Amino acid sequence: MRDRLVLVINGGSSSIKLALRKQGSSEPVFEAQAERLNTPQASYSYAGGDSHSLPDADTKAALNALLPLVEQHSNGPISVVGHRVVHGGEQFTGARLIDDEVLAGIEANAPLAPLHNPANLSGIRAAMALLPDIPQVAVFDTAFHQSMPPHAFRYALPDELYAVHGVRRYGFHGTSHQYVANQASLLTGRKDGKGAWLSAHLGNGCSSCAILDGKSMDTSMGLTPLEGLVMGTRSGDVDPNLHAHLARTLGWDLPRIEQLLNRESGLLGLSGLSNDMRELEQARANGHGGAQLAIEVFCYRLARSLAGLAIALPHIDGLIFTGGIGENSALTRALTLSHLGVMGLRVDPDRNSALARGEAGRIEATGSPAILVIPTDEERQIAEESLTLLDREPTRTESPA
Ligand code: AMP
Repeated sequence: MRDRLVLVINGGSSSIKLALRKQGSSEPVFEAQAERLNTPQASYSYAGGDSHSLPDADTKAALNALLPLVEQHSNGPISVVGHRVVHGGEQFTGARLIDDEVLAGIEANAPLAPLHNPANLSGIRAAMALLPDIPQVAVFDTAFHQSMPPHAFRYALPDELYAVHGVRRYGFHGTSHQYVANQASLLTGRKDGKGAWLSAHLGNGCSSCAILDGKSMDTSMGLTPLEGLVMGTRSGDVDPNLHAHLARTLGWDLPRIEQLLNRESGLLGLSGLSNDMRELEQARANGHGGAQLAIEVFCYRLARSLAGLAIALPHIDGLIFTGGIGENSALTRALTLSHLGVMGLRVDPDRNSALARGEAGRIEATGSPAILVIPTDEERQIAEESLTLLDREPTRTESPA
């Protein structure tokens, strides 16, 4: 049963990413992706090599080209395919073996993630057609947060919007928050994923989460991944009346406002320069006022969110930084922690700046709750969850004779 192989598939609207993972291993066996699907410029690449043109390929054509490469690089059969699915609504509280009911459920939740769920579905359908004898599992970004209590997930809106239309806070980045919280428990010598953690997943998308003994108690993202923290190009929280204000004063329609809040705001909007934290750090060091402001707002708002989420926990065993920014930006960690002294969190500046890229480590000063930097690995989490499900429901996953 050891050393089993899992193919992890992340199907996006214009791309598909494949990772072959071995059970328990922190390194992928093989990686491949196709980009710009459904355009004349469609292409694929693998194992970090050059890209190969695959004009007008759709998801299925891309998988058709990539799967033989996966087979070449796998030294054994694939036990299960694990698919990342963005929105599982309230129906999916954990990973599920994919059958007709699960496919219908992912489709039914598409209005909540109109860009992502249909793209995830086309990856699933293509993989099921091309690998009909291998069990397929859906792992949902939202499922981890289904443990949130109603006082954390309900908006103060009329009940009908929730009961009939599903308007509530769902949260995202669940696989990442779950993975790093579990790693934090291991790194601090706790058993069975125990511990009370705050986690900050800071990539292009950013979210924070309060996790108690492996369960999400509250998180910063809501109905959509726009709520909460300042992100690369997303505004995070704004006054909900901003929409009406922009419509009234500037005559903007909804698509224009959505574009503003999702693509033109966040670090990019504040700095007027870039959504990339590396570039902003460089510009800040050169005295760029917009970059300085963007980083300050990003860190202050993150600290405010973490302090707010702390009330979902009985105490705090530690704070976890992850994602491209959380793992690599000592400046972001230091500035954020400069606002969190009220919670007893204090960073050791030397340990913070000495941490090497991609390395897990602890950066708290003596006497502070743990402050951990943990590289996230959503593919590994998807692979492990898929295998766990396979072991739990073996009879349902047996291929028909
Ligand atoms: P992700 O979406 O997790 O890949 O994270 C992307 C973000 O991480 C971008 O804003 C990058 O600028 C940021 N990032 C990656 N490496 C570094 C680094 N060494 N220092 C600061 N930010 C970084």
